[in-house]
Amino acid sequence: MTHSDNGFFGKYGGMYVAEVLRRPLDELNAAFAFYMNDSEFIEELDIIRRDYIGRETPLYFAPTATQLLGGAQIYIKLEGLANTGAHKINNAIGQCLLAKRMGKKRIIAETGAGQHGVATAAACAKLGLECVVYMGEVDVYRQQPNVATMELYGAKVVPVDSGSRTLKDAVNEAMRDWAANFETTHYVLGSALGPAPFPDIVREFQSVIGREVKRQCAERKIEIGAMVACVGGGSNSIGFFEPFINEKEPRLIGAEAGGVGPGVGENASRMTGNASREGIVQGYKSRFLLDEDGQSLPTRSISAGLDYMGIGPQLAELGMSGRIEFTSILDAEALEAIVFFARNEGVLFAMESAHAGAAAMKIAKEIPSDKAIIINMSGRGDKDLFITNPVFRRSEWIQFLKAETERIESDKDIHDK
Ligand SMILES: *Cc1c(COP(=O)(O)O)cnc(C)c1O
Repeated sequence: MTHSDNGFFGKYGGMYVAEVLRRPLDELNAAFAFYMNDSEFIEELDIIRRDYIGRETPLYFAPTATQLLGGAQIYIKLEGLANTGAHKINNAIGQCLLAKRMGKKRIIAETGAGQHGVATAAACAKLGLECVVYMGEVDVYRQQPNVATMELYGAKVVPVDSGSRTLKDAVNEAMRDWAANFETTHYVLGSALGPAPFPDIVREFQSVIGREVKRQCAERKIEIGAMVACVGGGSNSIGFFEPFINEKEPRLIGAEAGGVGPGVGENASRMTGNASREGIVQGYKSRFLLDEDGQSLPTRSISAGLDYMGIGPQLAELGMSGRIEFTSILDAEALEAIVFFARNEGVLFAMESAHAGAAAMKIAKEIPSDKAIIINMSGRGDKDLFITNPVFRRSEWIQFLKAETERIESDKDIHDK
């Protein structure tokens, strides 16, 4: 078990919230403890995982990458093959099913880049729940493809116009809604952070990834030397690492966004960066990118999913204790990893997951060839066309977008539906 001690992981974690939020958090904690021991709930979740999400996801041996990198055997956990294209659906489905059992009819969620919003909207559509997604106005504007997808799933996207109009303002707005409406509403938090019990809940629903890896490796007699995952808030990494945390081996490596460099504002390196500080933000104690007065600092990453100022409390604790090693990957290195795995393995990594791929490429030679490095490909790269195309084929992409705009404007058969 890697469960928290009353909401704390060492000195990190906790439930630093206004009084009005204690009741829904306590109620959630009790329901979670109950249903995780309820065989009917677990059985229903297992069936949904199998038939709707498409689990288990494959553990793919990457022969060409192994040969070219010249060290460990490279394996990739193809979590991006899960329905909706990333690991976020594991948590969204788990929490929505839990909410349904608790008698809630309405789901709210925050989203930044939109990936968690998409997963939650899909889960609500599948389970017949009303879905409202809070999203900073700036993010609504720049993440239109995900807004469109959420709306297709039937979710209502509410633009948040307070503060910096990005993710942290969307979280505040969702918390406010929850405090007012918790009798009918569950708040699906998207990563392994926030006030207790969310870090425990999200880890538990994501740990299906790590349990599958453990079983797949045992069945195929794969000896694991290292496991590598990218770390935004920390949900795919903590779920991937979970069954191995209390063991001495393998090495567990978290790849943070190194952005364009080590300077303040140039990255999102909460564990390895120059501006990494301890703090209490949005209901939990952890490590954040803060200035000396405790104000949040700007972050930067080519990957929207890693571009966040805080890290989950359990990862912060495991990083400080040394069980998890952290490394920081530059935007340019992540882009190289995307090309490497696409060309050599026919596997297209999401921008976030490519940070894990790049970290594996760097350490492959440190691990002997009779051992494996397992990379968690948290998502697939189809969603990143708008990020990769401007880099790899800028002028063709600009031309294409212009032509598309003209085509849409001149086509009288296309109407707003
Ligand atoms: C959101 C996202 C991440 C980062 O979130 P974690 O909670 O750190 O896992 C990583 N990969 C993909 C594909 C994502 O959508």
